[in-house]
Amino acid sequence: MDQLQKRPANYVPLSPVGFLPRANAVYGDRLSVVYGRVRFTWSQTYHRCRRLASALLALGVRRGDVVSVLAPNVPAMYEMHFAVPMAGAVLNTINTRLDANAVATILRHSEAKLLFVDYDYVRLAGDALRLLADAGRPVPLVAVIDDLDAPTGVRLGELEYEGLVAHGDPEADLPLLADEWDAVTLNYTSGTTSAPKGVVYSHRGAYLSTTSLLLQWGVGTEPVYLWTLPMFHCNGWTFTWGMAARGGVNVCIRDARPADIYRAIARHRVTHMCCAPVVFSILLEGDANKQQLEAPVHVLTGGAPPPAALLERVERIGFRVTHAYGLTEATGPALACEWRDQWDRLPLPERARLKARQGVSVLSLADADVKNADTMQSVPRDGKTVGEIVLRGSSVMKGYLNNPKANEEAFKGGWFLTGDVGVVHQDGYIEIKDRSKDVIISGGENICSKEVEEVLFRHHAVADAAVVAMPHPHWGETPCAFVVARDKAARVSEDDVLAFCRKRMARFMVPKKVVVVEALPRNGLGKVEKVKLRDVARKLAPT
Ligand code: ADP
Repeated sequence: MDQLQKRPANYVPLSPVGFLPRANAVYGDRLSVVYGRVRFTWSQTYHRCRRLASALLALGVRRGDVVSVLAPNVPAMYEMHFAVPMAGAVLNTINTRLDANAVATILRHSEAKLLFVDYDYVRLAGDALRLLADAGRPVPLVAVIDDLDAPTGVRLGELEYEGLVAHGDPEADLPLLADEWDAVTLNYTSGTTSAPKGVVYSHRGAYLSTTSLLLQWGVGTEPVYLWTLPMFHCNGWTFTWGMAARGGVNVCIRDARPADIYRAIARHRVTHMCCAPVVFSILLEGDANKQQLEAPVHVLTGGAPPPAALLERVERIGFRVTHAYGLTEATGPALACEWRDQWDRLPLPERARLKARQGVSVLSLADADVKNADTMQSVPRDGKTVGEIVLRGSSVMKGYLNNPKANEEAFKGGWFLTGDVGVVHQDGYIEIKDRSKDVIISGGENICSKEVEEVLFRHHAVADAAVVAMPHPHWGETPCAFVVARDKAARVSEDDVLAFCRKRMARFMVPKKVVVVEALPRNGLGKVEKVKLRDVARKLAPT
């Protein structure tokens, strides 16, 4: 037996990149990518990726080198998810909403060898590269990605994406992956609560995450997938690779404005898409855009808590929502609210309430739990006792790049500490209550901002809401609510909101202040920037 436990002779490392040659063999003549008037088949995508990989090798890119990209959801961005690792390199997708300073920090920290830039971001890239040069730091090679549907001729440096693809050799020998634990991508955290950190994914983790999400979301063959979620966010929650695994159509759109989304859904008969809950608010904004879908569209949502009231509203117009919770460090989704058939019989508001829970571990994890962070004891399944959400298993990141201190702090007893506070319900479903840094401690009582927000969202005239701590001379902290009115006609007053809250929550949870604002400050991924709101609340605090 001992002998058999050794790695077999036919061992092939797990890698999601392998889904592409398979897609070429199995779905070769089927559509892979649609962008404006551009159409590619899986066979074309495969050969384009091989060409680009060989061009990268010819440029001197070597195993383990970082290749960065600053681009929206365009075909090149999709192809790079395969081509860059096919050359043995590591793909670093950069959030296009960052400023030049942050982009320069990432390029410096990752020691990027090459930067691909979409034509629309050349100014941002140019500023970032100047910052590097002025600081005497190495500057990566740059290649522009022009618009494939409507070329602009914009350039930054000598190289250009389509030129590299055209001159690449589709027959070139590409390096074989030696170890499934090798890095495949590098994603920087959005830095909502601390400085951005470079999260490294392994081929193995990415493969397992991709396959388990497809399975748990129930994605069959040939889905039509609309790219609303930026691919730069956890590699599009791994659906970049996932679409190759399923022979799906990648419908790429440059902007995810409501009109673009509704148009793409109708034109391409979209079956699946992913988005943060804030996209739902946008899709529901104003009656002009509020359309009843012709056929149901399956949506995987996560990245921030989706209020139950919002889930209810989007389900009414034909979206079939699956809710997942995750973070960059977990290769995207780590928990999924797996649906139980018996819940179908419940009224819609009750279904929405169950669906707003974050759920159970994804299959690529060995385990997910809620533990007391000091004792590391699991909390009881009572839906009440709060603890920290912790994760363990293959889809947890390989680690943070060049950051031993952060790596040490992130794990305890083999568990990854998410920094999120939650409870476990009797049925084993985990519900997040807050980020540990967002919990409001008022007179010794912990108030989860999300619970107060859930109530605010039920107010008929409230479109958006966020609750943060406001200093208080007696209570230490008290909740301060920021609300956005549903539309101009819907007046929201502080007194009205407070009266609404008093009827629906314990007294200590009722905000001491309600501020009506035009919009909440959100970062590029749609997360409310609570740091900014806390600054405002501090200024409004009673003394
Ligand atoms: P950052 O930690 O910098 O915001 P991430 O994009 O990795 O970067 O965000 C992960 C965080 O987003 C989680 O730790 C959690 O607080 C929040 N989050 C993600 N999905 C959900 C969800 N479904 N419900 C509630 N919060 C979520």
